Amino acid sequence: MPSSNTLQIAVLPGDGIGVEVMEPCLALLKAVEAKVGGFALSPATYPAGAAHYRDTGIALPKATMAACGKADAILLAAMGLPSVRYPNGTEIAPQLDLRMDLALYAGVRPVRTLPGLPTVLCDPRAGNLDFVLIRESTEGLFASRAKGTVVNDVCATETLVLTRKTSERLFDFGFKLAAQRKARGRPGRLTLVDKANVFTSFAWARTIFAERASAFPAIAHDFAYVDATALDMVRRPWTFDVLVTENMFGDILSDLGAGLMGGMGMAPSADIGDENAVFQPCHGTAPDIVGQGKANPTAMFLSAAMMLDWLGDRHREPKLNVAAAMIEAAVSTAYVTNKLKPFELGGQSGTAEITRAVLAAVAVA
Ligand code: ATP
Repeated sequence: MPSSNTLQIAVLPGDGIGVEVMEPCLALLKAVEAKVGGFALSPATYPAGAAHYRDTGIALPKATMAACGKADAILLAAMGLPSVRYPNGTEIAPQLDLRMDLALYAGVRPVRTLPGLPTVLCDPRAGNLDFVLIRESTEGLFASRAKGTVVNDVCATETLVLTRKTSERLFDFGFKLAAQRKARGRPGRLTLVDKANVFTSFAWARTIFAERASAFPAIAHDFAYVDATALDMVRRPWTFDVLVTENMFGDILSDLGAGLMGGMGMAPSADIGDENAVFQPCHGTAPDIVGQGKANPTAMFLSAAMMLDWLGDRHREPKLNVAAAMIEAAVSTAYVTNKLKPFELGGQSGTAEITRAVLAAVAVA
């Protein structure tokens, strides 16, 4: 822990439902901080996003970026509005700039189903999913962002980039995560998901993966093609442990993972680098439901839990890990006790009801 014992949290609510789920999340963090004790969070809110770009011409102000770089952790809700775009037609996405600028290469997307909720797959094992998708978040096809070309209106190109440096640290991160999970009774297996049967870059990355695997002999490793993985995420997702994949593949597969959990509002995530990390639900700004009280804050809450857990490990302060576990347990308890069913799962539980139930579960924890 820093000498002041207070951790600085840069808070970026962003746009759309981002603002709606961030507010209850800060209330939840305050509640667990008071309940567990032994640590202090100092959240400070900064502007960034599509609305800020519309109003000022700047999507990610320098002062916001500087504060994020200095903060102990960054808590981000969602950014972007389909109606606000750069002159080239692409959406405003400062969250992607943050990932690139802070080298947050490991996008951690846990896929865990909550007890008591209907599952989208009918096999009973789908109610017990627990695997993690790691999406490389700084290169891959996204390295071409804002660099693509359209030549004479007849041809367009984007270039996929993989580097040895990022691949090595990404794979090491994956092996360490698989080892941590193995210590908690999970299988301890890391699967590289790619398209190495077609593309040179992925065939090369397999050799790096195999090199790194030799440093982690206790962890099993294997390979899978991305198309087959999409099939197996529907056919037998309970067989996965930790998957690691390229940026664009991870972007797509993580939405499929969110679907297995019941919807975007259930899926938390973290983008982790060697020095900084952003914690953010997988969902976007959901303009179709904004202002209706229907936004599910669960993914935001679980992302905040991931933040506390990461801070706890980083600062060797177990109280933070306890607070993280308290949020996870409170979310599970709230769903079971109150028979919550969010709108996106066909129910009637909105932001306020889910927040009340989770805060009540913390109060009696
Ligand atoms: P982006 O491209 O910015 O990641 P997206 O295309 O994934 O966004 P979302 O904004 O995540 O789109 O919305 C996808 C669908 O999921 C929409 O129908 C939206 O209403 C729904 N959705 C997303 N997040 C939530 C949430 N927290 N609660 C309820 N529904 C949500």
